[in-house]
Amino acid sequence: MAKRIPLINLEKQYSEIKSDVNRALGSVIKRQSFILGKETEEFERKTARYCGTKYGVGVNSGTDALFLALKAMGVKEGDEVITTPFTFIATAEAIVQAGARPVFVDIDPVTYNMDPDLIEKAVTKNSKVILAVHIYGLCSDMNNISRVAREKGLLVLEDCAQAIGSLYNGKKAGSMGDAAAISFFPSKNLGCFGDGGMVVTGNRRIYDKVRLLRNHGSRISYYHEIIGYNSRLDNIQAAVLKIKLNYLEKWLKRRIENATMLNSYLAEFPIQLPEIPRGCKHTFHLYVARSKKAGRIIRFMNSKGIDSRCYYPIPLHLQKCFKYLGYKRGDFRQAEKASKEVFNIPVYPELTKRDILFIRDSIKEFFRIEGRN
Ligand SMILES: *Cc1c(COP(=O)(O)O)cnc(C)c1O
Repeated sequence: MAKRIPLINLEKQYSEIKSDVNRALGSVIKRQSFILGKETEEFERKTARYCGTKYGVGVNSGTDALFLALKAMGVKEGDEVITTPFTFIATAEAIVQAGARPVFVDIDPVTYNMDPDLIEKAVTKNSKVILAVHIYGLCSDMNNISRVAREKGLLVLEDCAQAIGSLYNGKKAGSMGDAAAISFFPSKNLGCFGDGGMVVTGNRRIYDKVRLLRNHGSRISYYHEIIGYNSRLDNIQAAVLKIKLNYLEKWLKRRIENATMLNSYLAEFPIQLPEIPRGCKHTFHLYVARSKKAGRIIRFMNSKGIDSRCYYPIPLHLQKCFKYLGYKRGDFRQAEKASKEVFNIPVYPELTKRDILFIRDSIKEFFRIEGRN
């Protein structure tokens, strides 16, 4: 059954842009030109400009953007990539796909991003890249991450799957590392009509290598310089995304307004609300609050028709697929604790003030029934 307040309302979003999007799709269909070319190139330029980087390469997905960026950075068998255990699986999957070993570092309990003070201790002679995830739309502490990377001779890859448009000290997410991966999965803040992703970078060599890798290692048809992959963003997706990018700032602004309203309406309850460090623009892909009663709050909100979930219930070092890495419970206490206590509240741009008041009333009812401690 459709929820009264879903996690995201793409039907509403589509109704706002329908005529533009349909026209753009019609034009691709009319020309019957689907793979590489006009729309993809235009969208790559537009996105790179938006992110404050020189280059953009459209690829199949955010996961492939991470994977191909790591390959282009020269990551290979025997290398280590330092990252957070508190993220979507794709972050660490891409590291393994590139032949390397994920080395996890615990998170800061307030920002939920990698604790930069712990990174240095995780560096070994095999370390190659720090993969910084900007979780929920809040940038990682890039000053400290960049400093460690510089001192230790490592590259930095930003996972911007949840953070397109976010700012850190005036700098765009995606413009601070050696390269960055963006996801256009439909539910992301800039989503397409299927799967899609992009690598943005200011580094000509990384750009060139990702371009080769995504298209069978070839620059000119049927001449193959390296073994590559089939991982291209197609023109149908690029046409949709090109339109949506025009609306992104407006949609992000509404997310931030909704998050600000939630922060003020929920301040009276005994839950930890999202905090925004100084100098950061949080774009709230997810509005995540925290309580020891998270499980019961989620169930209660779901019973009221509010889509609330836990992102993410099992930190990566405790996932079955990563058993071989040899981590155990207790290795990353902050990530483990957060995974039991976080819950999200809908914050999508089309959410109304009435919806937000309904959310507030539901949480009020929860604490009236449950008691406050
Ligand atoms: C969504 C997501 C990805 C993967 O993106 P896809 O386009 O679904 O492959 C990677 N990292 C994070 C943090 C994500 O949220």
